[in-house]
Order: sequence, then structure tokens, then C-alpha cells
Amino acid sequence: MERPTKANTTASPTVVTAGPTSGMAKPDAGPDANGSAQAAPRIKRGVPEGLWLKCDGCQATIYRKEAEELLNVCPQCGFHWYVSAAQRIEQLLDTGTFEEWDASLRPTDPLGFRDKRPYAERLVAEQKRTGLSDAALTGTGMIRARRVAVGVTDSSFIMGSMGSVVGERLARLTERATVEKLPLIIISASGGGARMHEGILSLMQMAKVSAALARYSQAGGLFISVLTNPTMGGVAASFASLGDLCFAEPRALIGFAGPRTIKATIRVELPKGFQTSEFLLEHGFIDRIVARKDLKSEIARAIDYCARSPHAS
Ligand SMILES: [Zn+2]
Repeated sequence: MERPTKANTTASPTVVTAGPTSGMAKPDAGPDANGSAQAAPRIKRGVPEGLWLKCDGCQATIYRKEAEELLNVCPQCGFHWYVSAAQRIEQLLDTGTFEEWDASLRPTDPLGFRDKRPYAERLVAEQKRTGLSDAALTGTGMIRARRVAVGVTDSSFIMGSMGSVVGERLARLTERATVEKLPLIIISASGGGARMHEGILSLMQMAKVSAALARYSQAGGLFISVLTNPTMGGVAASFASLGDLCFAEPRALIGFAGPRTIKATIRVELPKGFQTSEFLLEHGFIDRIVARKDLKSEIARAIDYCARSPHAS
């Protein structure tokens, strides 16, 4: 199959919204789906929408199916793309073993907050767009026949930020893992940290989840925190950094404030690769970098290794 020309792909950050399939050519010759006028004369054949992806890592145009077979990893440069919470569960757990917990919790708008639009409206729109009720999915399932408690945050729902529902779900997940003596796996994909739309109630979640994790730790539980691109703000500053083991996906952005903010505040040149998985591994902040295809087996291995420890309950 022929790859689309550069002109077809430049405007879209990830999904190449190229023209319709061959035989379905649109009559109009206006700007393409991206609003880009530079494509004229435009080649309008052969590429159904979303069949190609543009890699954020190497800018190459990648056949979507090929990337999906690699769990959304670029076959050219190994860049790890976004995966949704549901896809993550599918990739990590044994097929059909996931059972969601606390699905009925729903976010509210205690402050009547509005920025560009009312928070209540934004919530409904995000729910509709992502199919999630909030930015975290929690429950139980099996990893290579080992039962675990698992939580995943999804960066596509208000940047994966931690509001009351995310905090409450993760705290309850941790408490249930404590009672049921389950290994706890939390995969973070949160670019937003605490959710400003819920003000102080969001900030409280950091302490609440951390306190639940402390009790879990005292009870002898094993918490594996997996940091993915991006893990920032109040999420990085609370549960995501508290793993007995902290794994990270390659080249993930992990930190508290963004590099631009830090640079503007302290006015020094930041080191190269600052806030990447590789930099943080070198500086002892994470324990190992695990490629997505190895995550399942590495977690299973870690669980077995820790279960053999004499301190395990
Ligand atoms: Zn790439």
C-alpha cells in the first residue's frame, strides 16, 4: 500500500485525517479535513480516515494497524503513544477478567466552576467523548492468572486530572486491595495533576489516596506504580511516586510543573532530557523502564518475586 504524501499529513498531530477512500472522492476541492490549504493540488485517493498515524516521536507516517499490533508503539522509533484506559486494561489483564469497581461514582460540580465553559457542561462533553464517567478506571482482574487490584488514569479525560471521583476510586481501590490482600497496580497517564475545577476538593485527594496507600503498605501490600506519558502535577506528587516499585514507559514525560514553567520561574537552563523516564531512572526516581510489550510479564514477575519475600503476608 502506498503511503500518503507529506502534504496530506502535516496538519494533524497524531491521527492522519486524510481524504476519503478511493471511489468516494468528495466533489469539492476546498481545504482538506484539517483546514489546511497548503495541500492543493491535493491527492485524494487511497487513504480512509485514520488509517495512518503520524508519530509524535519521529514524525514518520505509520500504518495504524502495524502500530496497533505493537500496542500503539511506533515501529520506526519505539515511541509509546497514548492508549485509553480501556485499551490499557485490555493490554495488561488476562482477557475477560476485568471487573470494574465503583463504576457508579459520578463527578459533581460543587463550586459551580466555569472557565471557557461551565464545568458541569464540560463533564458531560468529556463523558460523551471518552465513554468514561471520569478520568480513572478501577477494578480487579488477573495478570497471567495472578489476581490484582488495578487502577488506570486516562489523559484524554480533562487531561487525566485528579478530581474527587478519581481520588475516591483510587482510595477505595487501595482500601479494597488492603482487605483482600491483593497486589495493587496503578497506571498513571495524567497530564493535569489536581483538577482545578473542583478546587480544594481536588487537592485533598492527594492526601486521601496517599494515606490509603500508607495503610496498604503497613499491611504488607505490594504497590507497583506505572508512570506513562504524561504523569505530571498532583498525580506525580502523590500516588504515582509512592510505588514500592516505580516502572515507567520509555520516553514518558514525568514531573511536577512543566519544563517551561520551571525555566520561567528559576531562570536556569534545565538539563537535557529533564523530566523523561530515562533522566529519572538515572537519578534514582524510578526503578526501571519497561517497554509496553513487556509490562504484563514484568509485573507478573515482580509480584512473584515479592511474594517469595519472607515479609510478605
Ligand atoms: Zn516514531
